Amino acid sequence: MQKILNYINGALTEPVSKQYIDNIDPSTGEVYSICADSDERDIELAYQAAEAAFEGWSNMNINGRSKIMLKIANLIEKNIDKLSLAESIDQGKPLWLAKNGEIPRAQANIHFFATAIEHFASEAHSMGTHALNYTLRTPIGVVGCISPWNLPLYLFTWKIAPALAAGNCVVAKPSEITPMTAFLFSELCMEAGLPKGVLNIVHGLGPKVGSALVAHEKITAISFTGGTKTGAEIARIAAPMFKKLSLELGGKNPNIVFADCDFEKAVTESVRASFTNQGEICLCGSRLLIERSIYDKFKDAFVKEVKKLKVGDPLLNETKVGAIASKMHFDKVLSYVELAKQEGGTILTGGKAFSPEGRCAGGYFIEPTVIEGLSYNCRTNQEEIFGPVVTLQPFDNEEEALMMANSTTYGLATTLWTENLSKAHRVAANVKSGLVWVNCWLLRDLRTPFGGMKQSGVGREGGWEALRFFTESKNVCIKL
Ligand code: NDP
Repeated sequence: MQKILNYINGALTEPVSKQYIDNIDPSTGEVYSICADSDERDIELAYQAAEAAFEGWSNMNINGRSKIMLKIANLIEKNIDKLSLAESIDQGKPLWLAKNGEIPRAQANIHFFATAIEHFASEAHSMGTHALNYTLRTPIGVVGCISPWNLPLYLFTWKIAPALAAGNCVVAKPSEITPMTAFLFSELCMEAGLPKGVLNIVHGLGPKVGSALVAHEKITAISFTGGTKTGAEIARIAAPMFKKLSLELGGKNPNIVFADCDFEKAVTESVRASFTNQGEICLCGSRLLIERSIYDKFKDAFVKEVKKLKVGDPLLNETKVGAIASKMHFDKVLSYVELAKQEGGTILTGGKAFSPEGRCAGGYFIEPTVIEGLSYNCRTNQEEIFGPVVTLQPFDNEEEALMMANSTTYGLATTLWTENLSKAHRVAANVKSGLVWVNCWLLRDLRTPFGGMKQSGVGREGGWEALRFFTESKNVCIKL
């Protein structure tokens, strides 16, 4: 059975414990590989390697760093079929989605920051003939990156690319639920000639190896994407150590449909925004708020489209909704469907597990589920489910839509549908989320700030924001 090894000091290495965790294909429920069960000893080895590599990497000229990163990006492109298949098997997402969305985006992340760093500049502030200030931006040193299981290689590269481009060395921990593409990525780094120790990938369980990474006293910046509870735990450890922290956390995103929308487009895109990647994207719209005058018409059209989504084997082209990433998450999502029923919700479609015939009979599948009849402030409408479950809620006017949209503790993304430009601007300005999409969903420009308000996170990723996070700024004032 394939062993997923750590990547430390430029080589694939066994965990010190020699212990492994089963890695399960969620579409079959069967173990198909084993993953290093690392601990604080592996983190220490990774840190030592990263620290030793730092001088060489941070002093390499920018063009040199950029060239190596571009080689890695090219290798992702060259291996797109292999990586897409691996991601689909490991995570449960449809193969076509990995191939058309996630893996190309991982390539784009590396390419983007490899070139962005060549244009990254700092400021100078003149005090006329008295003095001149200039800002030096230097790499931090060894930084930690922790990523989740929903978009494994996409979110892994989204963090390590700016960290490496800015001249840092990295100790990274992917999710133990989906370690495969990070492992394949380490092979690509070796092939591209990334100097040893610049990137170290340590696999294993979050509470064990993830927390050891966060607690390491010499790793002074942590970039984390994952759940809000885990983010709070990381902040609890890192804050008293005064570490730099970037936290990209959960969401409970409203998708607001006004009566004056382009109806067909709003229906089609809302289906996509609800169920892409089995609803396991932090940006999915899980609360559909619909203006009452079109509520019934929208509901009928939406449910009709959802019923057409084919659930099942992620490797088949016609599959639109694949497997839920793990048994634990599968149980959690189904428990929320039960909660919704207890809270008085009506299931319009879905609402139960699904067992396809054939090789995927033992997999973790849930029918795309649409629920109505719940109050905006019940638990189902306030807590993150992170699966193929959406609720429908009517609203009477803009004020009520905003009140409902802003009613959760989260503030990651909002989507709104209206052909009224003034209304779009007004709602976008007043909604409390870090991202707003008007008449579209998940349209991304990597230069833009990315992140959430409230309990959806601290800080922003993307473009200059990420490069600033991964550098220390120092003002130098020269008296003339
Ligand atoms: P978790 O918070 O459970 O895990 C995220 C990562 O943190 C994993 O690598 C995990 O390891 C690790 N981890 C777990 N516990 C600790 C700990 N105590 N110390 C350090 N690391 C730890 O999130 P999920 O993987 O379940 O991901 C889903 C969540 O991520 C959702 O809430 C979703 O909204 C959020 N998310 C946010 C995004 C954003 O940009 N805002 C984007 C994508 C997802 P392991 O899994 O190996 O145990």
